[in-house]
Amino acid sequence: MKKIAFLDRDGTINKEYPDEMWKYIDTPELLDNTIQGLKIIKDLGYEFIILTNQNLIADGIITYKQYEDYNKKLINILKENGIDLLKIYFCPHNNLDNCNCKKPKTGMIDMALKDFEIDISNSFYVGDSYSDYKLAKKFNLDFYGIKGKNDDEIFKYNNLLDIATKFRKM
Ligand SMILES: [Mg+2]
Ligand SMILES: [Zn+2]
Repeated sequence: MKKIAFLDRDGTINKEYPDEMWKYIDTPELLDNTIQGLKIIKDLGYEFIILTNQNLIADGIITYKQYEDYNKKLINILKENGIDLLKIYFCPHNNLDNCNCKKPKTGMIDMALKDFEIDISNSFYVGDSYSDYKLAKKFNLDFYGIKGKNDDEIFKYNNLLDIATKFRKM
């Protein structure tokens, strides 16, 4: 059984931008101390699954190819730094599509639970949005919120190293 760190992508691993700006973003810029944090979490025995809402695809702001190219670069940056991802799940829909995968809907985690033997009660979730928080709670996952979008106690960690350091102390 795998212990998983479920991670949001934008605003959690890499920088987030206003929607329209994503048109012009082709190179991932990691948030501070992301690699250091992921290394500690990895050493604690967790594997990584990214769950990302990419409604900008349905909105016509970015193409599927742009999404994929960005991901490939992100995967490479992480790999070069010794971090492998188990899988990236993404939702390309917007609310009009009424899909079952757009966070906080459960589709992406449901799929992960089919694809892998996951020890969900010993896994956790990191994100910067209420949709992440709500999704995590549906699976009773411990949630660690990253500061940025939301001024709320739920989102109190500066970055992944902040969270990893807390873990190491537990
Ligand atoms: Mg996010
Ligand atoms: Zn979807």
